Amino acid sequence: MPVDKKISFSIWYVVLAMIAIVLVHDFIVATQKLEELPYSEFRTLVVSDKVAEVTVTNQRVTGKLKSEGVSKDQKLFTTVRVEDPDLVKELNAHNVTFSGVIESTFLRDLLSWVLPALVFVGIWFFAMKRFGQGQSGFMTVGQSKAKIYAEKDTKVTFADVAGVDEAKEELREVIDFLKTPERFTRLGGKIPKGILLVGPPGTGKTLLARAVAGEAGVTFFSISGSEFVEMFVGVGAARVRDLFEQAKVKAPCIIFIDELDAIGKARGMGPMAHEEREQTLNQLLVEMDGFDPRIGVILMAATNRPEILDPALLRAGRFDRQVLVDRADKIGRLAILRVHAKQVVLGPDADLEVIAAMTPGFSGADLANIINEATLLAVRRNKEQVGHSELQEAVERVVGGLEKKNRVLNKMEKERVAHHEVGHALVALSVPGADPIQKISIIPRGIAALGYTLQLPTEDRFLMTKTELENKIAVLLGGRNAEELIFGEASTGAQNDLVRATDIAKSMVKSYGMSEKLGTITLDRERQPLMMQIQAPQEKGDYSEETAREIDCEVRRIVDEQYGRVKQLLTERKAALLEGAKRLLVDEVISGADLKAIMDKY
Ligand code: ADP
Ligand code: ZN
Repeated sequence: MPVDKKISFSIWYVVLAMIAIVLVHDFIVATQKLEELPYSEFRTLVVSDKVAEVTVTNQRVTGKLKSEGVSKDQKLFTTVRVEDPDLVKELNAHNVTFSGVIESTFLRDLLSWVLPALVFVGIWFFAMKRFGQGQSGFMTVGQSKAKIYAEKDTKVTFADVAGVDEAKEELREVIDFLKTPERFTRLGGKIPKGILLVGPPGTGKTLLARAVAGEAGVTFFSISGSEFVEMFVGVGAARVRDLFEQAKVKAPCIIFIDELDAIGKARGMGPMAHEEREQTLNQLLVEMDGFDPRIGVILMAATNRPEILDPALLRAGRFDRQVLVDRADKIGRLAILRVHAKQVVLGPDADLEVIAAMTPGFSGADLANIINEATLLAVRRNKEQVGHSELQEAVERVVGGLEKKNRVLNKMEKERVAHHEVGHALVALSVPGADPIQKISIIPRGIAALGYTLQLPTEDRFLMTKTELENKIAVLLGGRNAEELIFGEASTGAQNDLVRATDIAKSMVKSYGMSEKLGTITLDRERQPLMMQIQAPQEKGDYSEETAREIDCEVRRIVDEQYGRVKQLLTERKAALLEGAKRLLVDEVISGADLKAIMDKY
C-alpha cells in the first residue's frame, strides 16, 4: 500500500461531507415552500391582519400567514428586511407575535469560503499525486514513496513454499529473531543484517521472503531494484533513504529488494558507468552500515546473478549471508505441485507424481503455471475436474510456450522444419544415453521455435560425463545436418542450435577441463553458483592470446568431430529421415515411439 494514500483520502472525506451539508440544507429549505414576497406586500398583509407571526433576522423577515377559511395550512413567507423603524409598532398594533434571531453566519462563511478552498486543495493534492506517479521523480524528488510497498500481514507462510527445505531451514533463525529480538540481544548473539537469496528466476525467492515476514508477523517492505534506477540522478538514492526511514519506524520488519543486481552491479562495469545507479548503490551501502539490526530490521534481497554484484555489497556486515534457492528435485516438485493443486479440483486420474517426474529443471513458477494452464484447459473443455490429460498438455504448453497456430509457414518451410526436427530426434534415438524423445512437432510455438523436439530427461542429473556432453552437441547438430543432407544447403533455422552446441563445447574446454590439448585446467574464472547451468562464458578469463586461439581451435575441433559423426549417422538413416519427415508433415505431431518404429524398420 502506498503510504500517502491515507492522508489524501481523509481530505476527500471532508470535502464530500461539506458538499453533503450544503445539499441537505438546500433540500430542507426547499421542502418548506417558502414564498418570497416583496416588502411592500408584506407590509400590506400586516396592515390587513393576515400575518400570524414573524421572525426577524439580520437580513430577512420570515413568518406565517393566518390560515384562511377551512384550510388549516399556514402559508410560509419570507422577505428582505428593510430598514423600517415603524415595523415593530405595526406588528404590535395588529397582534402579530414576533421574535428576533441573531443569525450565526458561521455556517455560511464556512460554506462560502472554506469549502471552495478545500476543493482546490483536494484537486491540487490529487493532481500532484498523479503527476508524481506518472513522471517518476520529476516533482517528487526526495519524497517519492509511491513505489515502496508495505504489507502489514503478507498472509504467506512456510506451508505455501515447497521444495526449498534447506533455504527454509536457514531462514528459520531469522524468524525467531524477528519474533523475539530481546532473546537474541540478551545473549549477545550475532544477528544477521542482510540476507541474499540466490537462485534462478521463479524458484520462489520473493515468496520465501514474504513467508518469513508472514511467519514472524512483521511488516514487509518491498521494492524492486529496477525501480530504483530512475532517469533523474539522485532519485534512487533518495528513495533508498526513504525506504530505510519508513522501515525503522515500523520495526520489527523486513525490507526486501528484488532484482538487487539492477542496482548492485559492480561499479564501473558496463560500457558506461551509470552515475545514477552508482549513487543509489552508495546510498544503500551507507544505510546498511548505518542501521543497527537490533532494532529489528532485517534486509533481504534476491538475485539470480550474484556473480555480477559489487563485492562491497557482500562484505561482512552487509549481505554476508547467502541462501541458495535452487530448482527443486523430484520430491520438491511434487510438493510444489501439491501446494498449487490445493486450489483446484483434481480428477481421480490426475497423477501429480508423473508430472513431477517429467519436469526436471522446472522452477516453482513453471509448476504453478502448469496447474493454472491445466485448470484453464479443463474449464475450456467444460470439465468438472482437472484430469491427467490436461496436466500433461499443460506441461507441453509451458515447455514450448503457447501454440501459435496462426503463424503460417509455406510448404517449403514446413518441409525444412520437419526434416530438421526429425534430424534432431533420430540422433537422439541413436546415441546412447540421450534423453528420450517424447514427441516431435511442427506446430510453431512460442516466439522463436518453428518446430520442436520435446526431449525430457528421466531423472535429475547433477553430473554429466564428457560423452554425455558430446552427445548433447550431436543432438543439437542433428537438425542442421538433416537440412544439408536433404536440401543441400543450410538455413537460418539452426542458429539457436549452433549457439547452444558451441556453448557446451566452450564450457567443456574452458570450465570442465575436458580437452586433452589444453589439459585439466579451468580457464574460466567465472563462478558457477547454480548447478548444471551450462552458461556461455561471458568474460575472457586470465589467459594469453595464444591460449585464446587454442581454445577456439579446440572448440571448433569438438563441434566438427560431432558434426562428422552426426553426418555419418544420418546418412545411414536417410530412409528413416525421409519417412519420418513425411509422417510429420501429415500428422504435424508424432511420438518418439512412432519414430523409433520407423527407424527400426530400416
Ligand atoms: P522469484 O522471486 O524467485 O523469481 P517468485 O517468488 O516470484 O520467484 O515465484 C513466483 C511464483 O511461483 C510464486 O508466487 C509461486 O506461486 C510460485 N512458486 C515459486 N516457487 C515456489 C515454491 N518453492 N513453492 C511454491 N510456489 C512457488
Ligand atoms: Zn533445431
